[in-house]
Amino acid sequence: MTFTTRFAPSPTGPLHLGHAYSALLAHDMAVAANGNFLLRIEDIDQSRARPAWEHQIYDDLRWLGLRWPDPVMRQSERLQRYRAALDQLTALGLTYPCRCNRSDIESAAGAPQEGVPQFGPDGRIYPGTCRSRPMSETTEYDVIRLNMDKAVSCAILRGFTETGPLHSGSHQLDPEQLIREVGDIILIRRQMGSSYHLSVVIDDADQKITHVTRGLDLFEATQIHVLLQALLDLPTPIYHHHNLIRDSHGKRLAKRDDARAIAKYRQDGLSPADLRALVGL
Ligand code: GLU
Repeated sequence: MTFTTRFAPSPTGPLHLGHAYSALLAHDMAVAANGNFLLRIEDIDQSRARPAWEHQIYDDLRWLGLRWPDPVMRQSERLQRYRAALDQLTALGLTYPCRCNRSDIESAAGAPQEGVPQFGPDGRIYPGTCRSRPMSETTEYDVIRLNMDKAVSCAILRGFTETGPLHSGSHQLDPEQLIREVGDIILIRRQMGSSYHLSVVIDDADQKITHVTRGLDLFEATQIHVLLQALLDLPTPIYHHHNLIRDSHGKRLAKRDDARAIAKYRQDGLSPADLRALVGL
């Protein structure tokens, strides 16, 4: 299979040095393997996505010397596809609607207990209040969650054992850890029509991605993606988690860190080669 990787930014702010590193790394790997480098716009959060940021992304990446085939995949155009994947999980009996807001979840979670994690890669670990609600009770104010207990049993039945499979970056599906430290993740947020986890898994499969290059900040989220691939009968790509570019205080860069925006370096007269050197490529 042809080596295929992607860069998948959200158009919710300027790309910064960390994005440049991630995109260049993925692009260089594709070139070295004589493979494909794809771009995907992750814009399901329409309350934050802006066309101006999307244009800036294309402009910055072209300036860096990156090229990708058109048309670019845009998540906002694929909501029906995500819905179909949700229906597959519902047919397996793994989904339920949840009406809890943030403060419901906080109060149901109760006081923190020693050794019991409160947060996982999908945010605060859901205490399970709505778990017994049937999908027929779904209203437009709900989010749809994955019942992790059932999902893990289903994935094991479908051929995943407790120890496998192993992935690059030593990714292992650990049922106990998924239940305790990840919990019932959100599959669909009503106002978005999807979620990051569901969309990314479907898109990587549809784009025939063989290698995912992403930051170490997403390392814990990758196990969710591997689980969803098992449940949806999708292939698991090879994951390569790279180090994060940090500021001089050791903090990872954020979208609002405008001082590190690629556009700012461009304005200051730096060249693409200077940027490569800054991120050590
Ligand atoms: N939109 C995500 C981000 O910008 C994509 C990351 C990924 O799945 O690799 O962090």
